[in-house]
Amino acid sequence: MHLLIEQLEINILTPGGDDLIHVENLARATGDINGLSPVDLDVLALAVGTGDYIATDDHRIQNVAESAGIPWIPVIGKGISEKWDWIRKCRGCGKTWPKMPDIISNECSDCGSEIRLARK
Ligand SMILES: [Zn+2]
Repeated sequence: MHLLIEQLEINILTPGGDDLIHVENLARATGDINGLSPVDLDVLALAVGTGDYIATDDHRIQNVAESAGIPWIPVIGKGISEKWDWIRKCRGCGKTWPKMPDIISNECSDCGSEIRLARK
């Protein structure tokens, strides 16, 4: 599923404790923490530490990666020249935000609804 999981198995990389805490906090802020496995969090923490990108179709991992400023690509799009642009879109009022790594809230500032990633 993830490029970094493969790397994990080959190189037995261990994420730094600070990086792990960092992504755990981000995952808590985005509300994705409950849907993420310890391996998912390790992968995210490793990406923070190494600067690698993550290839995943897991929406929660994508969401936390966005918050952490980790570059990611959908697995389905790997090797395909078409590149998707993603935006954050409020499920309530439809307000959109450009990709900004510094946004860590998953709540719309206007109506308080959940913000999801959507394809442009
Ligand atoms: Zn809204």
